[in-house]
Amino acid sequence: TRATLERIEQAADLNAFITLTPDSALAEAEAADAARARGEAGPLTGIPIAHKDIFCTRGVRTSCGSRMLEGFVPPYDAFVVEQLRAAGAVTVGKTNMDEFAMGSSNETSFFGPVKNPWDRKAVPGGSSGGSAAAVASGLVPAATGTDTGGSIRQPAALTGISGLKPTYGRVSRYGIVAFASSLDQAGPMASSAEDLAIMLRGMAGFDRRDSTCVDRAVPDYRAALAQTDVRGLRVGLPKEFIEADGVDAEVSSAVTAATEALREAGAEVREISLPNAGMAVPVYYVIAPAEASSNLSRFDGVRYGYRCDSPADLEDLYKRSRGEGFGEEVKRRIMVGTYALSAGYYDAYYRKAQQVRRLVQQDFARAFESVDVIAGPTSPSTAFPLGSKADDPVQMYLSDIFTIAVNLAGLPALSIPAGFGDGRPVGLQLIGNHFEEGRLLGAAHGYQ
Ligand code: GLN
Repeated sequence: TRATLERIEQAADLNAFITLTPDSALAEAEAADAARARGEAGPLTGIPIAHKDIFCTRGVRTSCGSRMLEGFVPPYDAFVVEQLRAAGAVTVGKTNMDEFAMGSSNETSFFGPVKNPWDRKAVPGGSSGGSAAAVASGLVPAATGTDTGGSIRQPAALTGISGLKPTYGRVSRYGIVAFASSLDQAGPMASSAEDLAIMLRGMAGFDRRDSTCVDRAVPDYRAALAQTDVRGLRVGLPKEFIEADGVDAEVSSAVTAATEALREAGAEVREISLPNAGMAVPVYYVIAPAEASSNLSRFDGVRYGYRCDSPADLEDLYKRSRGEGFGEEVKRRIMVGTYALSAGYYDAYYRKAQQVRRLVQQDFARAFESVDVIAGPTSPSTAFPLGSKADDPVQMYLSDIFTIAVNLAGLPALSIPAGFGDGRPVGLQLIGNHFEEGRLLGAAHGYQ
């Protein structure tokens, strides 16, 4: 733990962390040593980890990458934080992220962008960019992230690590600052499928405080790794992913090489179709902002977080606190979401989006009748230069063309490293059926 804290200090220029917690980390490490001495150590005992700053941590500032939460010190831990602590993991700090998890490059953070350890002039992806950079640069062996539309998988791909978004409902959302509640899911980021398996076991579980959490036994994912044989595994390649516009040639060739490797290892690789895949991004950009506009209405400058100076009256307090506290991208989402939910537009946008969301789900259900996993690129490009898409929201939104449909359908998916394009990491995405994290991790482990 001490060495980890030193390494983090030395790598301060990455800007991967918002808050470090050295005192509690050293105390937790001592407790872990004591547990080990008593012969009570589990696979996570004494392992230093970092939490994305979207998870509430008791007594430790939680910013969600925003000025709006200035001064907020939660009086409780998120379920994920509780669980990993109970498993013996040592929390060394809170990682940087896009503001309220809205972004694909970490550039919307109030605390400044994170740098990609492979190329400090490039983005690490987002919104879990701090966690990705911290793992990719070897500062911590594992970290937590959240994924609403790709925020675990896309930064994992851009930094050459592994990241898993579990099935919606697998991990409790209690204590996670809500972005889009029907899509948000927490998951692990680490350097191998085996480490993801250990972390997921530590994070998953039923919790009454999240009504969408599913009461289902948590398998020993690590023990299950060996149970999935790549031989005979039915792998589907969606033709809509292969034919998608705007995919870097290096990404396509690295992903083709990866699927060829799966075929050579005995997988049955076949083409499939997800006819509504192209609707995923537009549907998401109605549903996610709608839910966000509702969730973010709690930040009013009254109860906690940022409050403007000397408000004239209540309305001025609301207006200026939110106006000064939220960044540009967050305001854009609140406006889009409020519009989509307003009377007269609800049927045209929100209801329509929910209907198309169902079609996207049905595409996957049909696909999983004939394949075990679906494979494709995680992101259409490798890490792009800092600033290159910051002023072009639509280009930024297209970073998630391959990841967003998975959230709309509530499915589990992971990204694992699949070589390099132009010296930058490329990610291979594997998507599984509901609650088939074990099979996904097994396939990824077999590939690795
Ligand atoms: N990049 C997407 C967005 O900006 C997804 C973010 C996420 O998964 N949290 O909304």
